Amino acid sequence: MDSKFMSGDVLAFARGGDDLGGYRSLFENAVEGIYRTTPDGRYLDANPALARIYGYNDPAELIAGLTDIARGLYVDPADRERFRGILARDSVVRNFEARVRTRSGQVIWIAENARAVYDPRGKLVCYEGTVQDVTARKQAEESLRLAATVFETVGEAIVVTDRERRILAVNAAFERMTGWSAAEVTGRPCDLLAVEMIGLREIDEMWRLAANTGQWSGETWTRRKDSEPFPAALALTAVDQGATGQDGDGRFVLLLRDITRKRRDEQRIRFHASHDALTRLPNRHTVMEALGEAIVRAEQTGERLAVLYLDVNRFKDINDSYGHAVGDELLRQVARRLKACVRASDIIGRLGGDEFVMLLPSVGDHSAAQACAGKVLYAFAEPFDMDGLQLFAGTSIGIALYPDDADGAESLLSRADAAMYHAKRGGLPYSCFDMEMDRQVAERVSLENDLRLALGEDQFRLVFQPKVDALSGTIVGAEALIRWRHPVRADVSPGLFIPVAERAGLIGAIDDWVLGEACRQVAKWRRQGLILPAISVNLSPAQFHDGRLKDKVKAALAESGLPPAVLELEITETMMASDVDRAIEILGQLTTLGVRVSLDDFGTGYSSLAYLKLFPVSTLKIDRAFVTELPGNAKDGAIIASIIALAGNLGFTVIAEGVETREQAAFLAARGCPVMQGFLFSRPVDADTFAGLLATPEGLIRL
Ligand code: C2E
Ligand code: MG
Ligand code: MG
Repeated sequence: MDSKFMSGDVLAFARGGDDLGGYRSLFENAVEGIYRTTPDGRYLDANPALARIYGYNDPAELIAGLTDIARGLYVDPADRERFRGILARDSVVRNFEARVRTRSGQVIWIAENARAVYDPRGKLVCYEGTVQDVTARKQAEESLRLAATVFETVGEAIVVTDRERRILAVNAAFERMTGWSAAEVTGRPCDLLAVEMIGLREIDEMWRLAANTGQWSGETWTRRKDSEPFPAALALTAVDQGATGQDGDGRFVLLLRDITRKRRDEQRIRFHASHDALTRLPNRHTVMEALGEAIVRAEQTGERLAVLYLDVNRFKDINDSYGHAVGDELLRQVARRLKACVRASDIIGRLGGDEFVMLLPSVGDHSAAQACAGKVLYAFAEPFDMDGLQLFAGTSIGIALYPDDADGAESLLSRADAAMYHAKRGGLPYSCFDMEMDRQVAERVSLENDLRLALGEDQFRLVFQPKVDALSGTIVGAEALIRWRHPVRADVSPGLFIPVAERAGLIGAIDDWVLGEACRQVAKWRRQGLILPAISVNLSPAQFHDGRLKDKVKAALAESGLPPAVLELEITETMMASDVDRAIEILGQLTTLGVRVSLDDFGTGYSSLAYLKLFPVSTLKIDRAFVTELPGNAKDGAIIASIIALAGNLGFTVIAEGVETREQAAFLAARGCPVMQGFLFSRPVDADTFAGLLATPEGLIRL
């Protein structure tokens, strides 16, 4: 007897006679199903276990109900063919697994052992065999196979360890992530992944928590085989924790996810929120935070803290004339130069626009801060290279110290700002805060607020000052000058409020009003028969660089009906210094309209004489500073004489402003400058008074 025949042989024993004889009880009570069938698939005999497996109440019901095994039992009828084929070939079939349908239609897995039974003449009589329901095992195998696939294919690294934290298995993702092969780490302590990074204490704690609660998860640092550290999200799970400890021998599964990318993204987001995208410097928010912290530290250590507030002189002009790309590049280069001026512990930030701030913790006194300002100024002395274009840009710096000048971050910053404003107004490279500036700031802020209302409330008006030919005593033109009648203050001088309006961005609207009003007034006089040959209007730098200037001038002329040649625009040399080519272009547009342009305050700026002849300008207006001390000041006299000569050579007309005495007038006329403007002839006067001057010019002083 073949010892491997197992339960399938039960029937063989039983077939000693026609029935099962002594084996009947074995047949009836077996846990395996036992059967005998015809080769074409009908049951001859079946035991209760088989009926149970297939969902029948008893063998009789099974035998009566299941008459076509191929189609009635097997999910795939081909299985029956396979089964018969094996029996035909080998006479036995072992552990034949197939899916079958029970009586209720449920699909289960069975495993069969069977053999073919022949009569003595060798004719096939029947099949007999045993059946086991192996559904549970099949499902377990399936989920194991699934688990194995997951284990090998997930992106997370998986490490299985024993209770001693020795590595039992790792998956492919682990090998990829860490650079270790399974062979290298199997049997070694799992700690090797992280012990260098976070220390044994922390690792012990993780495993203790996992052992006690079943799970630990969190983020930590681990390392790769080449020692490169990386941040990882960990989930450590205790499996088979069973206290019985049978097959649960205290294994742990460690899941590792490389979160370098995530960390980097988080860092990037944090960086963008706290830094300026253009210069990559800390932004205002971050600077204020750092300043607050620095103040707390300075308070503790008793040291001084300095804030340098700086901006780029004429940045707006540069931006307007060269375009934003150049402006942006300039700011980037400024940021780089500033960084080179300070120590690593100092902080540089960009507050917005062209405004930068430097925090110097622990300076001794003003002189240390001034030394730093000196370095910054030195850094600005070199031209900036804008893709081949050499651009000079200056800076103005304001300095404020903690605790000397302020006791909080906001006030310290605003006082450094006030000092910068002071420096700028005074034409100084830098200045240190003092309390007088605070008063000026308050004054400026209140002026700014009042200015915003002034236009709407009709508080501006124009006055007119004649330009006179001193030899003939005739009025050759007039300059329109703005006056602000403040509701509570006395009249505010344009010298005071125009810079405030420029800084507050209000100058454009004011200039527009002046241009329109001056043209309207002159046209009105003309209608009254009072002919003023020329009217001069001052342009602010913002107006000069405004791309709409040409259209605005055109509109003012059209609205008033004045001939273009009557209008003269006064600009200053400094407006053209930043970008000579652009300035020439703007001037060209104006002169093609037919209006004239004069260079105001001439001699105080730094026009290159070489460029001067390129400017389509008709008049040089000699600054009052050279006139005031005439005729006593020989140097001023010489300058005036040479300006007049230069103007003559280059084809400009000249006019002198601020003429207050007959001596001054005589000196100028004698040098060839008969056209003048100044208190000697008339102060700036309102429109009605000026109409009187126009009507009776005989009243004017004549040389
Ligand atoms: P500016 O264009 O050089 O104007 C001449 C200034 O000298 C005027 O001062 C005028 O009143 C003053 N002045 C005239 N003759 C004499 C004199 O004999 N002696 C003295 N000491 N001063 C004399 P004002 O009106 O206070 O204007 C100051 C500056 O404000 C002007 O200088 C100009 O740059 C600006 N400004 C005035 N009106 C306007 C305006 O409507 N728009 C713009 N953008 N700027 C203006
Ligand atoms: Mg002027
Ligand atoms: Mg002037």
